[in-house]
Amino acid sequence: MSSERKVRVRFAPSPTGGLHLGGVRTALFNYLYARKHQGDFILRVEDTDQTRFVAGAEEYINECLAWCGLTPDESPLKGGDFGPYRQSERKPSYRQFAEQLIEKGYAYYAFDTSAELDEQRKKQPNFRYSHENRLKLRNSLSLSQEETAELLAAGTPHTVRIKVPTDETVSFNDMIRGQVSFDTNLIDDKVLLKADGMPTYHLAVVVDDKAMEISHVFRGEEWLPSAPIHVLLWEYLGWNDQMPKWAHLPLILKPDGNGKLSKRDGDRLGFPVYAMNWKDAQSETVTQGFREMGFLPEAFVNMLGVLGWNDGTEQELFSLDELIAKFSVERISKAGAKFDFEKAKWFNHEWIKKSSNEDLLPQIKALLTLHNVQKVDDHFVTEVLSAVKERLTFVSDFWEQASFFFVKPENYDLAAVKPKWSAEKTDFFQKINSEFGKFESWDASALEAYFKGAIQESGMKMGELMMPFRIMLVGGKFGPDVFQIVSLLGQEEVIARVNKALVAFTAE
Ligand code: GLU
Repeated sequence: MSSERKVRVRFAPSPTGGLHLGGVRTALFNYLYARKHQGDFILRVEDTDQTRFVAGAEEYINECLAWCGLTPDESPLKGGDFGPYRQSERKPSYRQFAEQLIEKGYAYYAFDTSAELDEQRKKQPNFRYSHENRLKLRNSLSLSQEETAELLAAGTPHTVRIKVPTDETVSFNDMIRGQVSFDTNLIDDKVLLKADGMPTYHLAVVVDDKAMEISHVFRGEEWLPSAPIHVLLWEYLGWNDQMPKWAHLPLILKPDGNGKLSKRDGDRLGFPVYAMNWKDAQSETVTQGFREMGFLPEAFVNMLGVLGWNDGTEQELFSLDELIAKFSVERISKAGAKFDFEKAKWFNHEWIKKSSNEDLLPQIKALLTLHNVQKVDDHFVTEVLSAVKERLTFVSDFWEQASFFFVKPENYDLAAVKPKWSAEKTDFFQKINSEFGKFESWDASALEAYFKGAIQESGMKMGELMMPFRIMLVGGKFGPDVFQIVSLLGQEEVIARVNKALVAFTAE
């Protein structure tokens, strides 16, 4: 392969349902590599398995890539010079290669029916169609040329299988794992072309990677066992010099490191595994995704970017552009990466802090509408957002942290106030309130200075009055700095809240 070869990588999902975070990480690493090397990032939909077709899954993939900002240069939607980008639409292109392999003796027709194969599996639970038994099965290797020709002429349903060589080693250099070798005796004669004329994944992936001039393949480690089949096909089809470089990405593991992270782990441990909500058409059940849980795409992408990769420093926060700039295959780890949901939340928290108020404003306003807060002033919402931003893990936490800015408290934490309430405190707040009424400019630091001075004068302790004051405005012992709240609520509202609270605090 020439070193000047244009970088062309592909994300090749099968549209079978929601996209697992591992799938999005594969898309991301492909995208990073393409962008880093001024290459092309291609979306190819691998839909040759008609039995696994799921309506809506392709749209989901498009939406998910758009949400993450991983825009393909070529795709079924966008088109491109190497289309079509849906394998089902490329069906006519595969058979010729299967035939070519048969001609060269690297593949053969197999006439065994599914019932016959099931019978074999029943007899032999670890049945494999391989070099060990292929001559005992019904195929063009075991039958005479005439018999095969007759069966074909009669239109007998058949598959095409690869003839995996005996006693050989298939080796290749994986960009992440280095030299990897496979003993061909342990590899099955995989089906390449199915009875319905559709290629299997193995044939389609090689033919399409060649046709689309794919230079590098980044895919999950779960595809490593398939790689020797692909390497053999590249060789048998005479395309060795154009074979892409391989990179099998480390698995994403369960939080305890015990095996691959599955959707079931998410259900069990209460976190999403899909990128976005996925609704199962049959059961109508919705599996929650990161997006709907309240993750910002920047946080989701950042979290995935460091699952199995680091830049060699302590840095953990990366924008997509920074990931592109810093990405290097050498720093992808071989070992599986444990998924840590608490860490994922930390990324979101950090990205909320990093996001501009303007960027977050539409989401905050949507949240307020959801809570029936109709009239909102953008400037006011932005100020409130600045005050509570540090406290948000999800945008939706804004309501819990800041609803009191929009709705007067109905209930107070009376248990925190009443036992120590006194007539002296009532007098203090009445006096404060009438002084508050006289302030010409409602300035947080002037109000604070005044309030603290008044406490000193009263001889009472700071906390004894500060905490009830907060509860008067907020309802509970939470929220940002009291005088920031005072300043944001405004003169009239503060006075009204103090009056209302005094009634509740002094009621019998
Ligand atoms: N269609 C395969 C998948 O669903 C693609 C594997 C590959 O990238 O070769 O992940």
